Amino acid sequence: MLASETFDVLVIGGGITGAGVARDAAMRGLRVALVEASDFASGTSSRSSRLIHGGVRYLEHGQLHMVFESCRERRILATIAPHLVRPLQFVWPVYEKARIRKWKLRAGLLLYDALALGRNLGAHRMLTTHILTALEPELRQIGLAGGALYFDAATDDVRLTLANVLAARDAGAVVVNHLTVHDLLMTSDGVCGARGVDMRSGEDVEVNARTVVNAAGPWSDVIRRMAEPQARRAVRGTKGVHVAVPRDRLRHNNALTLLSPIDGRVMFVLPAGAFSIIGTTDTEYDGRPDKVRATTTDVTYLLRSANAFFPGAHLLASDVVAAWAGVRPLVASGDRNPDVVSREHSIAWTVPGLLSVTGGKLTTYRAMAAEVMDTIARRLRAGHRRAPTQRTPLPGGDIASLDDELALARATVGAPDIAEHLVHAYGTRWKALWQMASVDRALADRIVPELPYIAAELVWGVTHEMACTLGDLLIRRTHVAFETRDQGVGVAAAAARQLAPLLGWNVDDELQAYRREVEGIFRVEE
Ligand code: FAD
Repeated sequence: MLASETFDVLVIGGGITGAGVARDAAMRGLRVALVEASDFASGTSSRSSRLIHGGVRYLEHGQLHMVFESCRERRILATIAPHLVRPLQFVWPVYEKARIRKWKLRAGLLLYDALALGRNLGAHRMLTTHILTALEPELRQIGLAGGALYFDAATDDVRLTLANVLAARDAGAVVVNHLTVHDLLMTSDGVCGARGVDMRSGEDVEVNARTVVNAAGPWSDVIRRMAEPQARRAVRGTKGVHVAVPRDRLRHNNALTLLSPIDGRVMFVLPAGAFSIIGTTDTEYDGRPDKVRATTTDVTYLLRSANAFFPGAHLLASDVVAAWAGVRPLVASGDRNPDVVSREHSIAWTVPGLLSVTGGKLTTYRAMAAEVMDTIARRLRAGHRRAPTQRTPLPGGDIASLDDELALARATVGAPDIAEHLVHAYGTRWKALWQMASVDRALADRIVPELPYIAAELVWGVTHEMACTLGDLLIRRTHVAFETRDQGVGVAAAAARQLAPLLGWNVDDELQAYRREVEGIFRVEE
């Protein structure tokens, strides 16, 4: 399929940026191919804080345009994918002598709501100490001076990326994972395609294209240098770490925005099912993006910060269920402090035919993709008409009422946690997935007894969502690896045996590859 034609657009990289560009391009009626070296969303797009947020903290640095655009996108995404982008209530406690005082927070949140131009998910409210304590009784009370309540949105970064990949495919794009580009095809006129290798079969593949989009995130300088070996660094990587701990250790009721007592940085404690996710760090990172890992220093920073706000928690390293890191692909600039480097993006022709996209956020991917495709349409003299990406539901997003959908799922499925998970992950497609489990009851079994993922999702991942490896299934199509202390290794053998006939796996080889992959992502370095 890839070798048989000349595409209008070849997208390199299947993170949120590449997936969004492929969807936009395909919806403009262009011939599109998307290739991803590993799995869709296996890079930074599976390591985010899983927020679709206006970015209240960017107000501090005067990035008003960014906040304005993010608020607009938050509203759009909540409309086209209400199952994946859902309102999340945040509490921001303010302590005496904190870097951000109550008046400053009030001013910031007023501006935040104003910049949303009525598109906010709910207006903010200032809280007295008394009310805040009633909302979050486990929070430290000494020095508490009140706070605020405001709204942003929670998402599932992998499934949002995947929804865009599937939408691109539905609109006619050829999308392929586990295909690594190692070379660009060049003529005297510029870049005209790429050469890569299929990582599963070892076969070489050549893709011809009129334009190539470099959407390789933290790897994009590698692609850029395939065309221009002397190209200056355009991406500045900073590392962000999260840890998951059992929710009953912190016993918080809302998402929390906190200022770390160690260095005053904004950080979050986020609810995620039975877990609390604490994040994130923000430190300079010059290493290989695929080698990025949490260190004991990162984990200690996050636990110490959380412990300072939850005096009853006494979190220790042994409480951590999983720790992981990601690299923010920021636009390289002279700014020294990683925390204040802009999250804005840059779109530029590296050489004729190769358009490189750098920076951005999960939240703003759709707008960034439209801008990329406007630039390409000018070069191709085709696809000028903007695609209606802001009003076309993402796969599973054609939901009239999320509450009704949840009620129907609970009544059909029985177990409320499984029902809610299926609707949130698959939207309206949960019915087709559940149908598989109704025909073969073994597919209704949980993969891990205490988590809501079921065996049918593994089969669905293969038949409907292009999963090829155990890692694709247990790390990304489901989040078993993020939510079990052994990162899913204990259930991997049963899953491998279940799927081997479907995918022609050698079970031992697949298990070994899975162990290597989770070690690479989740092992905490000294
Ligand atoms: P990636 O997701 O890294 O995708 C690039 C892809 O290119 C990878 O999948 C990679 O395998 C592929 N690739 C690389 N080389 C090749 C090759 N040779 N051939 C083929 N494919 C290749 N944003 C938000 O809006 N909200 C948040 O809450 C948020 N939290 C964050 C927290 C952290 C800790 C971090 C690190 C980032 C966060 N972000 C957040 C930012 C957001 O996650 C990123 O901006 C976004 O995921 C980047 O996506 P991308 O597609 O550009 O890069």
